[in-house]
Formats: sequence, structure tokens, C-alpha cells
Amino acid sequence: MAPPVQPAKVAHAPQPTEPADEPKGKQKLICHSCGEAVPYNVAKFCWFNKPKFGGNLYCIECQKKVAAT
Ligand SMILES: [Zn+2]
Repeated sequence: MAPPVQPAKVAHAPQPTEPADEPKGKQKLICHSCGEAVPYNVAKFCWFNKPKFGGNLYCIECQKKVAAT
């Protein structure tokens, strides 16, 4: 039987040292082809068109190339 109250020793902290000034989900979005930063709305377009882009992120310029093939 486990004791009802655990000791005040937490194995894993809920948050490591991370700046909390940016909303979650705003990760670094990088074009899979050229490495350019991809705006969120452009990345979203890639996610909506996963079959076309193979689940990768592409900037607008590279999207044209990928979609053309
Ligand atoms: Zn690109």
C-alpha cells in the first residue's frame, strides 16, 4: 500500500528554465528546403496540405516548387 501523502520531493519540475513571454506553440518554423523562417500562417498552410508537402514546412517560395513537382 502506498502512503496517502507523498514527500515534498518532486521528481520532475513542471517547467524548466524557459522564458514565458511567448505563447506556446510559437516554435521555430523553418522551411524544410531553404531553412528560411516560415510565418505561422504559412506553416499552417503546409500542415493543412500535408499530403502535398509530405508533412514538412516550406516557405512560400519553396511551396511553389514543391507543389509544381
Ligand atoms: Zn524555402
